[in-house]
Amino acid sequence: MRIDRLLVEATARLAAAGSPTPRLDAEVLLGHVLGRERSWLYTWNDHGVEGFLRARFAALIAARVVGEPVAYLTGEREFWGLALATHAATLIPRPDTECLVETALALRPATAQRVLDLGTGSGAIALALASERPAWRVTGVDRIIEAVTLASANARRLGIANADFQVSDWFAALTDQRFELIVANPPYLAEDDPHLALGDVRFEPRSALVAGGEGLADLHYLIGAARHYLETEGWLLLEHGMAQGEAVREALNQAGYGAVATRLDLAGRPRVSLGRRDD
Ligand code: GLN
Repeated sequence: MRIDRLLVEATARLAAAGSPTPRLDAEVLLGHVLGRERSWLYTWNDHGVEGFLRARFAALIAARVVGEPVAYLTGEREFWGLALATHAATLIPRPDTECLVETALALRPATAQRVLDLGTGSGAIALALASERPAWRVTGVDRIIEAVTLASANARRLGIANADFQVSDWFAALTDQRFELIVANPPYLAEDDPHLALGDVRFEPRSALVAGGEGLADLHYLIGAARHYLETEGWLLLEHGMAQGEAVREALNQAGYGAVATRLDLAGRPRVSLGRRDD
């Protein structure tokens, strides 16, 4: 069957199943099966696709019809221009999180800095920072071994040598280290957040999404604990939900951080709050 016909049929199935981006999903999945860029599909849209490749495409479409995220099906997602491998044990990197990367890059000089990324998952934030700032030394930690394995593999695949990854439950394995910059995209959704029942989020690990105390428990913990691991004048940057900016700023102020502020993401929503260790 021709590429254009396959795409039309798959798009119709995905649209009927409620995918918000049926044509894009079909193109990305067919491109993945054929080992080609999406643009190639347009140039060669009258090409036939062999039976075994059609069967592989059909299996991916069937998984997508029941809601599996495209990034888990292809095993890949782009973040900050880096092609990252994904794994169902970690969150899929999101464009929202580029706000955290931008804020971090604007805060510290390009000279040597020690940087810590807590709950690194696929390594997205750590690798974006390390690739932009070759003089920085970035450590990514995660409680989950699959995340550390994945992030390390991503670093190797991308040839990024100034980031390393280790298993640690937040700061647990870091006893006497200090950092100029600590960043985290922790879990921050409340247990009853209706967003958890929709779309890709249903297939992502709860442990990376949900926190107690209306989603604020881990943010509060990190604000309290990070001071001990920051150098004087070091910054803590936290991603959070769009309605959590005020609560996070208040917690940073109460814990004694200075220069407390919130930054907006690409959609103009409060997304990242920061504070500096001043004493
Ligand atoms: N921003 C994510 C979402 O809304 C949540 C990520 C997180 O909890 N860190 O799906």
